[in-house]
Amino acid sequence: MAQIGIEARQGRGRRAHRDTARPRLAAPEACTGCTACRAACPRDAIVMVADAEGFLRPAVEAARCVGCGACERACPMLAPGAPDLAPDCFAARTGDHALRLASSSGGIFTELARDTLAKGGLVFGVILEPPALVAIHVAAEDEAGLAAMRGSKYVQSDPRDTFREARAALRAGRPVLYSGTPCQIAGLRRFLGRPDPNLLTVEIICHGVPSPAVFAKYKAELTAERGCPPVSISARNKHYSWRKCSLVSTFADTSENCEDLYTNRYIRAFLADLCLRPSCHRCVAREGRSGADVTIADFWGIEKVCPALDDDWGTSAVLIHTEAGRRAWAACAGRVEAAPVALDQVTQGNPAYLHPAREPRGRAWFMTHFRDNPLEHTLRRALAGSWPERLARHCRTAARRLAVACLGIFITNRGGASSYLHACVTLPASA
Ligand SMILES: Cc1cc2nc3c(=O)[nH]c(=O)nc-3n(C[C@H](O)[C@H](O)[C@H](O)COP(=O)(O)OP(=O)(O)OC[C@H]3O[C@@H](n4cnc5c(N)ncnc54)[C@H](O)[C@@H]3O)c2cc1C
Ligand code: SF4
Ligand code: SF4
Ligand code: SF4
Repeated sequence: MAQIGIEARQGRGRRAHRDTARPRLAAPEACTGCTACRAACPRDAIVMVADAEGFLRPAVEAARCVGCGACERACPMLAPGAPDLAPDCFAARTGDHALRLASSSGGIFTELARDTLAKGGLVFGVILEPPALVAIHVAAEDEAGLAAMRGSKYVQSDPRDTFREARAALRAGRPVLYSGTPCQIAGLRRFLGRPDPNLLTVEIICHGVPSPAVFAKYKAELTAERGCPPVSISARNKHYSWRKCSLVSTFADTSENCEDLYTNRYIRAFLADLCLRPSCHRCVAREGRSGADVTIADFWGIEKVCPALDDDWGTSAVLIHTEAGRRAWAACAGRVEAAPVALDQVTQGNPAYLHPAREPRGRAWFMTHFRDNPLEHTLRRALAGSWPERLARHCRTAARRLAVACLGIFITNRGGASSYLHACVTLPASA
């Protein structure tokens, strides 16, 4: 198949004039992999192909492309939306305690989705598809389908053909709830082109998405360590509490591995921003720009804002942007405990609504080396920095030690030997 990497045909952000049959889409660093261009192509000329870092990107099959421009019109990165800095904001949690325990935050996704199902609709969300536990979007028509969507999958999901499936359902007059990252919602809305009264879009506040290839490497390491593959991975297990959530992997031999989120190597790499998609570091889909009807998130800081809604089993932040969102939220009212809050009370503990994650210096090193080295080792090296950075740090430490030694000699001469020795011994290596 003759493919044109779309990134090789990139304009400067806004749509450039189309002089040949080859489309110009989002720049490589801006492309979110939302699949809107692929879904919009009437000739099926676009395929999503994993790049060297494991992120899916569009590629055009030149022989099929007729230069119609439908993909360009669908690309949300070429025409970012306006921010919504005045949504209706709530702290909220479902009254169904078991549901809240099974959800990442306050269980609001399921509450919104249940209304769509009750009206005979389709709910789109993310599952880890067995046996390889690959994150993909699927449609659910019942409670069992919703259950698999619950919980955050900290890896970029592949929407596959769900944009077209959602459009087909809407054309058939069915209610549709589509959930995903802001860039996926932006892509869906641009692909659909016009508002539909049957559509409800629900985005998460999104810190960023790790590479599927890094997640695959983590699963391979788990398999090698345990001697059998994981059959489920839950990254937000609330066995201890919401704040002290853990990553629980269950294996084919029924054994389990439970790790604190902040000691798990995969989550540490995610939280250190070492394996996020490049577009996440310059994200233009946040701040309500996606056009989502509702934004849901963890309400970090709820203990200060509304202690009555904090029992450490999970509280959601809910941001309502549109009339459709208000109607859906009102339909949940009887099943949800909620209190109105201000936007800055949400963003204080959740800056990801406003600001993208900064790209750390070690990212390039991590993404180049993770395939051939153990994740733990790659993570430590990436965090430690390059050899000139490490050398500079060692020099700084040596200089500090020398300064302390000089100080010590001075103190010793005045009879304070014990404090000098104490200062030398306790000086941290990284100082
Ligand atoms: C990659 C990622 C980054 C996040 N970053 C933040 C953050 O910075 N701050 C914050 O407050 N919250 C963040 N969240 C969202 C948060 O963890 C909860 O998912 C959200 O609060 C919903 O919780 P819930 O209890 O209502 O429902 P749950 O049932 O736990 O929510 C599941 C919902 O998340 C969707 N989902 C799960 N995994 C993915 C995925 N990989 N891609 C797209 N959608 C997915 C499902 O489709 C479903 O709609 C993030 C989630 C993910 C997946
Ligand atoms: S220009 Fe038209 S035919 Fe070519 S890839 Fe884009 S949508 Fe498909
Ligand atoms: S539509 Fe989405 S996947 Fe296609 S180029 Fe634009 S951002 Fe990338
Ligand atoms: S941070 Fe932005 S670009 Fe990255 S996945 Fe989230 S919404 Fe998309």
